[in-house]
Amino acid sequence: MDLEKCRKCTLCWKFCPDAAIELVDGLPVIDLDFCKGCGICANECPTKCITMVKEGE
Ligand code: SF4
Ligand code: SF4
Repeated sequence: MDLEKCRKCTLCWKFCPDAAIELVDGLPVIDLDFCKGCGICANECPTKCITMVKEGE
């Protein structure tokens, strides 16, 4: 995640179907124990701060 570009719009948090995103001072923190890797947050982010990578990379 490149949070330098984050506008704190909360869209990633709103759209995550697994409640895997917590907002800390408005910035998203993803709990990888709950994230299923669906990519919705990355697709919804208007500034593309969230990028998907394969596990282990
Ligand atoms: S990849 Fe899917 S499950 Fe994981 S944080 Fe993003 S929206 Fe939530
Ligand atoms: S969708 Fe993107 S810009 Fe909006 S809060 Fe999430 S990471 Fe930040």
